[in-house]
Amino acid sequence: MNFPIPNVDVPISQTQFQRIDLDSLDYDPGTRKQILEYHVNQCDEIRQAYIIKGPHQPPLKTFKKSGKHNRSFQASWFENNSTWLEYSPTTDAAYCLPCFVFHNSNRVVRQNKFIVGGFRNWKKGGGRDCYFQGHIGKYPNSAHRVAEQMCKDLMNQWQHLQRVVDHFTIEQIANNRLQLKATIFIVRYLAFQVAEIIEKAPKNATYTSPRIQKEILHVFSAKVKKAIREEIGDEKFCIMVEEAHDESMKEQMTVVFRYVDAEGFVKERFFGLSHVVDTAALTLKNGIYSLLSQHCLDIQNIRGQRYDGASNM
Ligand SMILES: [Zn+2]
Repeated sequence: MNFPIPNVDVPISQTQFQRIDLDSLDYDPGTRKQILEYHVNQCDEIRQAYIIKGPHQPPLKTFKKSGKHNRSFQASWFENNSTWLEYSPTTDAAYCLPCFVFHNSNRVVRQNKFIVGGFRNWKKGGGRDCYFQGHIGKYPNSAHRVAEQMCKDLMNQWQHLQRVVDHFTIEQIANNRLQLKATIFIVRYLAFQVAEIIEKAPKNATYTSPRIQKEILHVFSAKVKKAIREEIGDEKFCIMVEEAHDESMKEQMTVVFRYVDAEGFVKERFFGLSHVVDTAALTLKNGIYSLLSQHCLDIQNIRGQRYDGASNM
């Protein structure tokens, strides 16, 4: 009996879509593509590239003059708005980097000139009550400030992950690989024992047909889910959702629950995969609703959500 050994070196997401070379990204705010036009699996990486590069502020001495008053963009505006204000010489217009990196709906784009189209009402550019102040907003939950915070969070999360990954020593990596190999060996060994028993079984009762095997797996899966469901009980829980393609290019949604069990231990349990027709936010939401309601888990008890690779959520 031959067992395929999974290729653990290549993440699935990297084999399933055409990765954009980050060096080829267009940094001119007047001509660049919107983040959501890229493949969902690479959006965060592209966001990071734009944040690291910083706002596009070309060091021009003179800016194009326009209108009957011959007004133009002023270089001094960069000083007061250094963390976000951008200028495109191509379209002679101003843009906002954080709002470009993190806006979550077409409605925001239509309302916000600083994302698409560009701002060029230079009369309202400078001064205390200028249009730029209006864009930043008075309150901490203005669209611009929320976008700025999301940029910070994304970079912190990335640096944190980098630190965790860098923290692994060569010895730890070798140990982890050894454990994985041992696990594969044990599974193969046990499978051979089953094969021996099957050889001795009556010819009409080997239970090796794909339908029977699927049924057995289904019973296992149902029992494991039931045990997890009982462990969560009526308590609060978090969901973690990852989106990925499978080998047949079908979109899949992976759901993991994180909760505290009756003894006070934090548990993180893989709950299952479900096929979704696409990775649009509404489809994923419906998939999650359906999975939770199948197992009578109350949405009101969700206390945290994390979406990895499904960042459109
Ligand atoms: Zn903004």
